[in-house]
Amino acid sequence: MREIVAMGGAMEALIPAPDAHFGMIASLQPMKTVVRSSEPPGLRLSESTVALDFCGGFRKQRRQMFLRSHVRVGRRGYESQRSAVDVSAIDAAQPFDDGSKRSLELQSGSKLRVGIVGFGNYGQFLAIRILKQGHKVLAYSRGDYSEKARKLGVAFFRDADDFCEEHPEVVLLCTSILSTEAVLLSLPLQRLESSTLFVDVLSVKEFPKNLFLQVLPPEFDVLCTHPMFGPKSGKGSWAGLPFVYDKVRISKGWRSRAADMFLDIFVSEGCRMVEMSCAEHDRFAAGSQFITHTVGRVLGKLGLESTPINTKGYETLLGLVQNTSGDSFELYCGLFMYNPNAIEELERLEAAFDSIKRMEARTPEHLQMVVPESSATRTLCPLFLNQSWASPSNWTKSLKQ
Ligand code: NAP
Repeated sequence: MREIVAMGGAMEALIPAPDAHFGMIASLQPMKTVVRSSEPPGLRLSESTVALDFCGGFRKQRRQMFLRSHVRVGRRGYESQRSAVDVSAIDAAQPFDDGSKRSLELQSGSKLRVGIVGFGNYGQFLAIRILKQGHKVLAYSRGDYSEKARKLGVAFFRDADDFCEEHPEVVLLCTSILSTEAVLLSLPLQRLESSTLFVDVLSVKEFPKNLFLQVLPPEFDVLCTHPMFGPKSGKGSWAGLPFVYDKVRISKGWRSRAADMFLDIFVSEGCRMVEMSCAEHDRFAAGSQFITHTVGRVLGKLGLESTPINTKGYETLLGLVQNTSGDSFELYCGLFMYNPNAIEELERLEAAFDSIKRMEARTPEHLQMVVPESSATRTLCPLFLNQSWASPSNWTKSLKQ
């Protein structure tokens, strides 16, 4: 048992090359890794310290983290290409073992064994529907969810080796965006079947796609997905709710069966299935999901309360605050730091807000129609008083032009 305390960039130095797999033994001893903390360097996940201070420090940190993470993932990919696997393995899966039997069963239409990694809020939310459709669910998480799992009918493992030894056909990553890299690297992949399908549900997509392609051995299949709903918006029926997916690397033949069966879970629930590339997803999501979460959190800071005279618009705002406040701040940080388009959207949002503050969006001519020149009205509209164009003499000038 070896313990890894993930302290930012220092962590990868402690982790063996991830390419020791299949029917062979890594020259490295099989080892257990425990990720105690994957909190990224320099990032304190307290909302009060970050305090939605988008300018300056937070943004700089985000840029540094994003670059660091991508350089690290890129370097790893290059190294894994170079090193022919110096592996030999005693305890990895063999073609005649349980996994091969399961693959035959899969071909004949039996149910999936879905292994959820990260059994927090979202992992449990998905587990309920997967079970409902008759599939078997097992789970592994940093925290102890044995009791919750037992009640749901999920086999829970606190040990990653034991979890992988169960040989789930699908490993479904439901970890926080920020911890995904550390968690993936800590999994004893050599204990899984070589036909394993890796799926993620992260709310950003380019990052897990690149990570999977560079960390997972080529024998593993990769399906990147994002159910565009959560425990609140998907509490009832999932009919019509969008489910985005990208079949990043799916082997042909019977192996594609696991991916199809997994997608069928969401088809059967009535989701609107949207196949699109991870890059496209991130572009759309920055302009929609990230903005929604940002505005929800900003409004949350205002402490809005229901009044006896709520308009429909105001009710919508209250709903937005409620919808976004339930999600972890770590999730929000992930949306911001791991979507390359988020920073641009934030800048657009800031610019729009500034322009509203400066009243640039309205022309003096337009205001002449609505603000009479009486001093009483001007007193009631103090916002206009400091604007040069609000001076009556300028109005006369502009009228003459
Ligand atoms: P989250 O805060 O993003 O993630 C919580 C999960 O991450 C827990 O399972 C937790 O495990 C694990 N985790 C966090 N830090 C870890 C670490 N250092 N080491 C190991 N595991 C760690 O909240 P969430 O809402 O459950 O979201 C999970 C994933 O689903 C995210 O990637 C998110 O983008 C995606 N997603 C969420 C929604 C939503 O509406 N919430 C919708 C679509 C997709 P433990 O509990 O065992 O500590």
